[in-house]
Amino acid sequence: MIRCLVVVLAAALATCASSPQRAPEAAPAVAPSGIEVSDLNRAIDPCTDFYEFANGGWRAANPIPPSMKRWSRQLLSREANQRQLQAILEALSSRTDWPAGSIEQQLGDYYASCMDEGSVETAGLAPLAPLLAEIASARSSEDVQRIIRRLHRLAIPVGFALTGAYDYQVPDNTLANITAGSLGLPSRDHYLSPEPRFAAVREKYRAHLAIVLGLGGMPEARASKAAEEVFALEKRLAEASLDAATAADPAATAHRTTPAQLEQLAPRVDWGRYFAEATLPRSDLNVAEPKLLQQLDKELKDTSLATWRAYLTWQLLDSASPWLSKPFAKASFDFRDKLLGGATTMRPRAALCIESSNALFGDALGQKYVERYFPPAAKAKVQELIRALLGVMKEDLTELRWLGPETKKQALEKLATYDVQVGYPNKWKDYSTITIRRDALWANVVAGRKFNVEDNRKLIGKPTDRELWQLPPSSPDAYIEPQLNQIVLPAGFLQPPAFNLEATDAVNFGAIGIGVAHDMTHTFDSLGGQFDSAGRPRSWWAAADLEEFGKRGQCVAEQYEGYFIEPGVHHDGKRVLNEAIADLAGVRLAYLAMKRGRPGPAVDGFTPEQQFFLAWGQYRGAAESLEYQRQLVKGDPHPTARFRIIGSLSNLPEFQQAFSCQPGAKMARSAEQRCSVW
Ligand SMILES: [Zn+2]
Repeated sequence: MIRCLVVVLAAALATCASSPQRAPEAAPAVAPSGIEVSDLNRAIDPCTDFYEFANGGWRAANPIPPSMKRWSRQLLSREANQRQLQAILEALSSRTDWPAGSIEQQLGDYYASCMDEGSVETAGLAPLAPLLAEIASARSSEDVQRIIRRLHRLAIPVGFALTGAYDYQVPDNTLANITAGSLGLPSRDHYLSPEPRFAAVREKYRAHLAIVLGLGGMPEARASKAAEEVFALEKRLAEASLDAATAADPAATAHRTTPAQLEQLAPRVDWGRYFAEATLPRSDLNVAEPKLLQQLDKELKDTSLATWRAYLTWQLLDSASPWLSKPFAKASFDFRDKLLGGATTMRPRAALCIESSNALFGDALGQKYVERYFPPAAKAKVQELIRALLGVMKEDLTELRWLGPETKKQALEKLATYDVQVGYPNKWKDYSTITIRRDALWANVVAGRKFNVEDNRKLIGKPTDRELWQLPPSSPDAYIEPQLNQIVLPAGFLQPPAFNLEATDAVNFGAIGIGVAHDMTHTFDSLGGQFDSAGRPRSWWAAADLEEFGKRGQCVAEQYEGYFIEPGVHHDGKRVLNEAIADLAGVRLAYLAMKRGRPGPAVDGFTPEQQFFLAWGQYRGAAESLEYQRQLVKGDPHPTARFRIIGSLSNLPEFQQAFSCQPGAKMARSAEQRCSVW
């Protein structure tokens, strides 16, 4: 019955048997909801400080928790997301009569095995024993390499990682991509920087290595020595690695390499066997860090077998620790979560089990999530909003006077191929080949990891599959992939406050609509402007247009220079320029799209136009500590929440009209002051 109402309400389609005669225009059975009235601070004039008016009530009632630097309904919704996933997994695991091999059985039994700490304690190191014994018996470089290949199948990237990734030059194709493997510390700086904070971490890390090797059964004296050897090996590999920023730069790490060149780069690695065992084609691939492969090759020759055995043991134990008995889990928490991550308490077991269910069986959990929390009407509604945004954006680009014809043509081509993925992929992964047991946690983890490694390897040498997401469908996050000209909005993200099926279109355009329109403009700015409509790296802006874009941006940069977070500290206009322009354009485009559609009725005394602006103020209106704002101002391309709202809206005459702001009001920049880019 509830589902039936939602369908009528959302799509205005009479698909519900009990109300087949209802005309699409008729009033819905349940009035749509508007903005969050209780979040307002009505003591403030919206024309003076809209950030405070729209969301000041919420911030006053929801102080930033002591462990956080900012707080918002968006962050709060992450907790709701966890509760949703927990409810699904608990319900599935409470039954033991699911058909064998069904996703219900797999998820339910995996979760049960993960939550069963008693069995994990009893099992101790036994589940790892065969692999540990194999490592202990390694007597040659060939043995070491065989174990490395075996660990790679378990998603433990010793020495290097080899995965399928789209080709930087021709992103329509997917090839093998060799990147740096996992070192025990998070970055190159952790091994090499003379800064005292890094030196302190290094000291603790060496102690941690000795503890874990000791827990793995190594006698204490040998464990301390082995810890030093492992650290020295990792340090040499770190020296040959790129710094984090360069390693994350696709252009700096694009090195197309033939199989013959790969053999030359690291002749001691048995590539023939590696590719054959992984059933991979011997075709051109990308080597992100050639220098690192050369170093690895050298280590295979120079490093003692005893050190290699210790290193492989360490890598296996480190990767398995969260799933092993308490001493392992505690050692991992003390070093990784507490020392490196700043956590104060060990998170509940359920959090680990939810996260790993998603990491291992993301599409299975995604299916169950969508069944419960993202009905077909929600997907249809979001797609409808996006079609409206794309339509407005196309018209806007076509009519834009300052953009020359050639740049405009290319921009329109990009827009035509803009790919918006909504909720969940069109096809689900088939996990039916995996066996999951209720009493074998590590074996389950291994089964899931092997499936995912093989699933990824299958992509190599094929056209790029755009429906392979980097996040599971239940994720509370969304992302853009500039080179694929793609935005991915998982069902877990398309929940309040970003999207609410029961709210008016005005509210949804003001939240998710502005968010998506903001990201669409990144397709054309300095982020997406480096890639053409096929995703190939090529700047397609004509010089004169780029100059005009810069001139128009100057107005926005100057506006933000004038925004202070405390006396003497203001935004750096150039730093936030891209994001501020995207906000300004996002609000304007989403507003136009809302006006052309059916924005919905007035609710709680607010017109659709007012609801739209209020929804943006509430969606973006996070509370941010002064410390956090200082960090943003110094290093982040985004303005603070306050100025993302005030900065964008004060440029819009439509906002001033909606709230009857008088000339001279703080939120009403005069016609001469207003900035307009897109
Ligand atoms: Zn952005």
